[in-house]
Amino acid sequence: MSKIIIILLLGFIIYKVGKNAAYLALENMFGNKTLKEPEDLVKCTFCERLVSEDLVIKHKDHVFCSQDCIDASINKPS
Ligand SMILES: [Zn+2]
Repeated sequence: MSKIIIILLLGFIIYKVGKNAAYLALENMFGNKTLKEPEDLVKCTFCERLVSEDLVIKHKDHVFCSQDCIDASINKPS
């Protein structure tokens, strides 16, 4: 009979932990989003488009949004 109590207890713990984990995951997601988005945007040197720093291509001390912009800036130096 004590098995039922153990199962109920385990269920309660899993429920509690799961709820906590879900809450933390949500907090992380939203916390990161609100903090990350404005700070991590950089301007492409060529077309001036705003790109996430993770996706940007660095080339000779300049940042570009794509290989096309690097090629274009090389072909047409201003
Ligand atoms: Zn660009």
